[in-house]
Amino acid sequence: MDLSFTPEQIAFRDEVRAWIREAMPPRIREIAAVDGHFEHDEIMEWHRILAGKGWVAPHWPAEWGGAKLDVTRRFILTEELELAGAPALSPFGLMMVGPLILQFGSDAQRKRFLPKILAGEEVWCQGYSEPNAGSDLASLKLSAEPDGNGNYVLNGQKTWTTYAQYADWIFVLARTDKSAKKQSGISFFLVDMKTPGVTARPTLTIAGTPAFCDTFFENVVVPAENLVGPLHGGWTLAKALLGHERTYIAAVGLSTRTLRRVKQIAAATKERGVPLVDVPAWRARIARMEIELWALRMANYRAIASAELGHAPGAESSILKIRGSEIMQQMYELAMDVMGHDALSWHNTPGTIPEAEASVPPQFNYARAASIYGGSNEIQKNVIAKAILGLPS
Ligand SMILES: Cc1cc2nc3c(=O)[nH]c(=O)nc-3n(C[C@H](O)[C@H](O)[C@H](O)COP(=O)(O)OP(=O)(O)OC[C@H]3O[C@@H](n4cnc5c(N)ncnc54)[C@H](O)[C@@H]3O)c2cc1C
Repeated sequence: MDLSFTPEQIAFRDEVRAWIREAMPPRIREIAAVDGHFEHDEIMEWHRILAGKGWVAPHWPAEWGGAKLDVTRRFILTEELELAGAPALSPFGLMMVGPLILQFGSDAQRKRFLPKILAGEEVWCQGYSEPNAGSDLASLKLSAEPDGNGNYVLNGQKTWTTYAQYADWIFVLARTDKSAKKQSGISFFLVDMKTPGVTARPTLTIAGTPAFCDTFFENVVVPAENLVGPLHGGWTLAKALLGHERTYIAAVGLSTRTLRRVKQIAAATKERGVPLVDVPAWRARIARMEIELWALRMANYRAIASAELGHAPGAESSILKIRGSEIMQQMYELAMDVMGHDALSWHNTPGTIPEAEASVPPQFNYARAASIYGGSNEIQKNVIAKAILGLPS
């Protein structure tokens, strides 16, 4: 398997880099330069700029606004955007419900929802997890009952709904048959967040951002036309969507950028007058992380080469998810160590520590989540044990 890029692919990389330099507005560029936090409006502004270029949904079919890029070029585009520190777009429309509507939705649903996702006119959030249904998602209890007038009535609660406070729509898994085996009685609905009875209550994270909500449904009336796929057939959709979520989770570009920042901080921080980057023990730690990251990058390239040959990503996406999240966390741990006592600045006032360091503590905190979301790493190990090692469950 040849894992090197062709001259055309390298030219595409250069084209992407040049375009990002040109297209990124000054305010976004300033935040990206220090790996700062992007507000929702800034993320959506970048979404619309990418949409204008035709690169916002490169994995969608061309007829629905996809970018006509092969797997390798899509990877290059993603990596370059991460390397440039561009705002990470909300995945819920583009990566999750969009592909799902494409695969399982009706033509009317495709026409109604896809163009608005693409244009950034409607923002989505994901209503899967509940207070007692996370890893064991099939235990979910949000109920959806027919009202006899062609609607379903939803009652219950979702939790961990990322940025539900900004969303126009939520896709939910709801129980439509309480008597069936738990995986068999679930259906997939699209719910307008403005429907009476939907309430999103944000909670503050340790990183200082209101990133999640508890989302409540009280007698929420949803038209039957918003059911995607067959009634009681939602589990198939749920699984399809989670597999998709994991493929994008290795975050090689983001970790490469963090390693760059580690080196920058290590060059500016001195131990007895010597920059840490020249102290052998620190150099060895940085080199080790660089090697780990290269191994991940090569594993990612292998998965891409395999996809180019027409193989669907299988359980190997679980390996990428585990290693990607571990490396991301280790990278921030190293950055925190290199920062020494500066790392204790939690929500720092601007100017109290060097600008290059300011984003590290909140991101170190947020990175703890990477081994939980998208299916926890322990669950991924169960997948590998069963699907790759052939061990009994
Ligand atoms: C940053 C972030 C964003 C999120 N965004 C969303 C969102 O937008 N929408 C949404 O629906 N959900 C979201 N989630 C929720 C996420 O999907 C769940 O947190 C995840 O599925 C784990 O569920 P849980 O938190 O209930 O933990 P639990 O399932 O209760 O697990 C607790 C611990 O037990 C371990 N464990 C559980 N079962 C097993 C097993 N069978 N074998 C081995 N170990 C096991 C887990 O690995 C974990 O360490 C988000 C979570 C985070 C952290």
